[in-house]
Amino acid sequence: MTWAATVLTVLPEMFPGPLGLSLCGKALAEERWSFETIDIRKFATTRYGSVDDTPAGGGPGMVMRADILASAIDSVDRRDRPLVLLSPRGVPLTQARARELAAGPGAVLVCGRFEGVDQRVIDARGMQEISVGDYVLSGGELPAMILIDAVARLLPGVVGADASLDEESFEHGLLEYPHYTRPHSWEGREIPAVLTSGHHQRIREWRRAQSHELTKSRRPDLWDAHRRRTGAASTKT
Ligand code: SAH
Repeated sequence: MTWAATVLTVLPEMFPGPLGLSLCGKALAEERWSFETIDIRKFATTRYGSVDDTPAGGGPGMVMRADILASAIDSVDRRDRPLVLLSPRGVPLTQARARELAAGPGAVLVCGRFEGVDQRVIDARGMQEISVGDYVLSGGELPAMILIDAVARLLPGVVGADASLDEESFEHGLLEYPHYTRPHSWEGREIPAVLTSGHHQRIREWRRAQSHELTKSRRPDLWDAHRRRTGAASTKT
């Protein structure tokens, strides 16, 4: 079965957008994953197709209506796919979560707009909320694309060598080491000598040390977690 994404949005014209290009686009054309959008506006009950209304209790902005969004959700053949609301209040998206989703049959993704979504439909349909980071965007469409991109590149055959996925940032709870390629000398900067030494053991060690250094200085949170996981063994580097 191909990994299947269904995206519920008021802006279906935004899709597939960047997902139709490069790595993900090629995989989509090869049917390694599939994709459809559901236009939430088609489920509007007024002539003007509005899907939002003013917030109960007052305050700025508009809220997406529970009844209209529920009709859109109920029109989808979910099969065993998780129902996800992209939301800044959600659990942060991680590489581990992307792996979990990639191992499943797909995902049904709801893109919020305006101030957000009526809480009752989140509760009634049991939506899982996922965030793409601690900042607020104007809609869930870009977050949905981020989630799909992160998952699609993990599907079998999408990224060339599986080994290249295994070495990446976050796969082992660390940031990745720096990369270099030709020319050997550029603007007076040389490729680190160890990388052209042909000495595989030393290259491995150098990369591991770099990865540790980067993680320690940029992401002390990841570094602490890594140290807790691996015990004293890795505190030396
Ligand atoms: N008032 C809300 C933000 C609404 S932003 C709040 O303060 O929490 C409008 C929509 O954009 C949200 O419903 C959500 O679907 C999407 N969105 C915005 N930022 C996001 C983020 N960091 N991660 C995932 N979705 C996000």
